[in-house]
Amino acid sequence: MEICRTKSAIRAQLAAWRPAPIVLVPTMGFLHEGHLSLMRLARARAGATGKVVASIFVNPTQFGPGEDFDSYPRNEARDFDLMRAEGVDAVFAPEVAEIYDPAAQTIVETTELAKTLIGKLRPGHFRGVATIVTKLFNIIRPDAAVFGEKDYQQLAVIRTMVRDLDMGIEIIGAPIQREPDGLAMSSRNVRLAPEDRTAASILSQALDEAEAMAATGITAARLRSHVRATLEAEPRARVQSVDIRDAQSLDTISGPLRRPAVILLAVKFGQVFLIDNRVVQPPKEEP
Ligand code: AMP
Repeated sequence: MEICRTKSAIRAQLAAWRPAPIVLVPTMGFLHEGHLSLMRLARARAGATGKVVASIFVNPTQFGPGEDFDSYPRNEARDFDLMRAEGVDAVFAPEVAEIYDPAAQTIVETTELAKTLIGKLRPGHFRGVATIVTKLFNIIRPDAAVFGEKDYQQLAVIRTMVRDLDMGIEIIGAPIQREPDGLAMSSRNVRLAPEDRTAASILSQALDEAEAMAATGITAARLRSHVRATLEAEPRARVQSVDIRDAQSLDTISGPLRRPAVILLAVKFGQVFLIDNRVVQPPKEEP
């Protein structure tokens, strides 16, 4: 596995490999099974002749003031071993100064999607995401890139940006990988206090319940209140947001569910910000 620290090094390596198809997996490192599942999908998409490139970059511009940029967990040596074992061909792991020129003045923003849901809780977050992903796409010029459905709104932002700016890159969504108790895997889970780690399984429990209730013909508003009440019954959980949106457009929904919907949760335990989501189906039409 080639380890590249600079844009010129990764570009030279990829130039030597082209025209082999290139599949990119962007990460912020501190890898877990969720990340590795993305690398396996990338490996399968690349095929025998293609090349898988993973990136590790904790992107400062997607963290707000007072968020966890400095305390975000890092372990590069372990990440490299895990990537090697998944058959990753090259890793791009630059320093911040390699990526951001202090004189930079260009940003990429999905104007509407960036303002809603997590964009409200974390102003500027999706501008940081869209800009860094565009930069990674321009540096690596992949044929395809893999992103997790765990970050549901992020995936929507990236699909929208690729469509709107004619990037011509295939975006592959990967299902959420979970711990045995249902907690969605996240690099941030290691920062949960032991009692919070136990309590955090309430997110997936609330989603399980909601999935069953969605099939009964309940309205979006009632379903949302029910999910919120389930989360609030856990005293350690500080609920940041519960939303039910159209699974495709992320538009708001009123009345009973008629199309697939996504339930989006953001909950804090101590200082740790967790998100989870589930796509639920409306009741089946009677024949
Ligand atoms: P991160 O390092 O948290 O920025 O995540 C890198 C990529 O891994 C993103 O596309 C995430 O959506 C994806 N990812 C993170 N956690 C999971 C998970 N539990 N299951 C599937 N994909 C995940």
